[in-house]
Amino acid sequence: MKLRLNFKVNPYYLLASYFDYYENIFWWDPEKYDDFLKVKRFPKFLYQSFWLRENKRIFLKVNNKRSLKQLFNLLYKNSRELFNKILESKEFKKFLKETEDYSQWLENEWNLKKDIVLKNLEDITGLKIIDKNLNVDVFVVKPPLKGGFVIPHKKIIVWGHSEDWSNYSIVYLCHELLHILTYKKYKHPNLMHALIELATDNELRIRLNGGKYPPFVGHSYLENIKKKIYPIWKQYLNKKLKVKDIIELEELILRKKII
Ligand SMILES: [Zn+2]
Repeated sequence: MKLRLNFKVNPYYLLASYFDYYENIFWWDPEKYDDFLKVKRFPKFLYQSFWLRENKRIFLKVNNKRSLKQLFNLLYKNSRELFNKILESKEFKKFLKETEDYSQWLENEWNLKKDIVLKNLEDITGLKIIDKNLNVDVFVVKPPLKGGFVIPHKKIIVWGHSEDWSNYSIVYLCHELLHILTYKKYKHPNLMHALIELATDNELRIRLNGGKYPPFVGHSYLENIKKKIYPIWKQYLNKKLKVKDIIELEELILRKKII
């Protein structure tokens, strides 16, 4: 198998996401925030973490530990001491360790299920996936911090989410993977996104877990498109159409003016 998912924990990205998430909580519920990071030990950090949070994706672009540290020190010259104090704090170290454990769980889960899952995904999408020469970096953040996005041209996924139903992480890793595999091959971003949701959030999910759809799982802003294309989607799955994959299916839907 040539497709590889490389699961990684990046402490600087994790720190930025950590601030980001708890800043939001703090806004609504200051006491929880205090609990979490014992923020009173770091009185200046709220103010100084702003730039870090706003620019956290920069850390996803640097691949080795030494350059990451150099970049971090360069960017945060003024608050370096403060941030290093937080990185060295026992609260953050504990969270980092928990994140590494979660990342290990995710990697095991993927390795355990990838053969059957990718076979299903190829069957549903018509795309060549298993033998594709593709390396994807999966940066892991531990729930309750939320990952669930992709930078397709960089082949980067950021993932972290509670298992709201069986195989939740597996299904959504496949969802993000399809964003990478279809990048620049579609004409209508929302239509392709709806097709990705039908393929993963819905069809792959029920193949793994049982059940049925509709009702559809996925973004509510794509609900209308999914309703409109559901009949042709069923025909496609039953091999009633002369299209080989979801990319050709998208073209057909546009040609037929279904949406
Ligand atoms: Zn998506």
